[in-house]
Amino acid sequence: MDDKLIDLLVDKISEKLNESQSFLVEASGRHVHLSRKDIDALFGEGYQLKLDRYLSQPGQFVSRERLTLVGPKGVLQNVVILGPERADSQVEVSATDALTLGQKVPIRESGNIENTPGITLVNGNRSVTIDKGLIVAQRHVHVAEKDAAKLNVNHGDIVKVKIAGENRSLIFDDVVIRVSEKFATVMHIDYDEANACGFTKGIKGTIVK
Ligand SMILES: [Zn+2]
Repeated sequence: MDDKLIDLLVDKISEKLNESQSFLVEASGRHVHLSRKDIDALFGEGYQLKLDRYLSQPGQFVSRERLTLVGPKGVLQNVVILGPERADSQVEVSATDALTLGQKVPIRESGNIENTPGITLVNGNRSVTIDKGLIVAQRHVHVAEKDAAKLNVNHGDIVKVKIAGENRSLIFDDVVIRVSEKFATVMHIDYDEANACGFTKGIKGTIVK
């Protein structure tokens, strides 16, 4: 085999390898997850959230209902509620949103809401004040169990992910890996992070060692 052919093969192989180790990146806007109790209080006893569209994670959906978040210094209107309902209500905002609300908000993994601030949720003339659950979501990769070996990751790993955004390529550190058989393999960043890395729809991320 001549050298040129070998070079070509090596290029092709590394391209394929890269492809198999990259995943879709999605930007999540601010959103609310609600408990049954808080849905009852905000929309009425037994109310069912109405489906707008499904998300990449199986069973997760955007509802048609919207809420207003009222912080100590500002409000955010028209905030999306994601279904299905959860055991605990949780509100995920960006660091920029936290400034708008006038509330210091910790970066947490979804579900880890002990010692986080609360916030007031408003729907028309109904409101609920949750005493905890306001977080900036830690950037994360949902990994389907079947993809964990291919990506060489385990649940709970902290990795670096390179995102080749338009003229703003960026390597994010402190990305948490979450593995579950219930997940589709997708990375989630918020809008601050999306803006920082030149995010465009369909962009891919790759774990870098
Ligand atoms: Zn996510």
